[in-house]
Amino acid sequence: MNSPSSPTFSICVYCGSRPGARPEFADSARAVGQWIGRQGGQLVYGGGRTGLMGLVAESTRAAGGRVVGVIPKALVDKELANPLCDELHVVDTMHERKAMMAHRSDAFLALPGGIGTFEELFEIWTWRQLGYHDKPVGLLNVAGYYDGMLGFLRDSVREAFMGEWQMDLIRTGEEPHALLEALREDVPRHAKDDRLAENI
Ligand code: AMP
Repeated sequence: MNSPSSPTFSICVYCGSRPGARPEFADSARAVGQWIGRQGGQLVYGGGRTGLMGLVAESTRAAGGRVVGVIPKALVDKELANPLCDELHVVDTMHERKAMMAHRSDAFLALPGGIGTFEELFEIWTWRQLGYHDKPVGLLNVAGYYDGMLGFLRDSVREAFMGEWQMDLIRTGEEPHALLEALREDVPRHAKDDRLAENI
């Protein structure tokens, strides 16, 4: 199937390089990819073939979407760089990877994953709180996977290490399509600014 050359919506998905233990995780990764593809959208992701990362990419392509992968050269073999990408960028460092993923996206969505996913989510969230960008950030809480983390974050607000306004900078949801639609609605209407380029 041909991928659209000028996608309507470019979304960065952070998720596990492993599939996780529950079938719901894979189902949600497929649902995210299908939504992106059906919208004529573009997936920006870590460029790997394994785990939920591979599933999101495969489903996006199968539904007619465009796939941009960005992978550090040291991980090309470990995460199995994905040949189905319309664009595969092999970069020198993890920092370059994350910067390019941020530049190329209108919004960000984290699915279940491990420490790589957590780190990416927290980084893009902190960049938002610093005003480095104003792109929406979402967290898909599949099968209650993130309940414990969200509870801890609420503890942090109660203990006065975080403000409620910081929690409001991420949109959480349990249903992939509804969350993706809300993120797309949240994309700022103004022309792309270059604050990310100035700050990272
Ligand atoms: P994981 O959630 O641990 O399976 O990792 C998901 C993705 O996050 C993988 O593509 C990792 O390469 C990536 N990742 C991003 N930043 C980091 C980091 N600082 N340490 C480890 N993995 C990272």
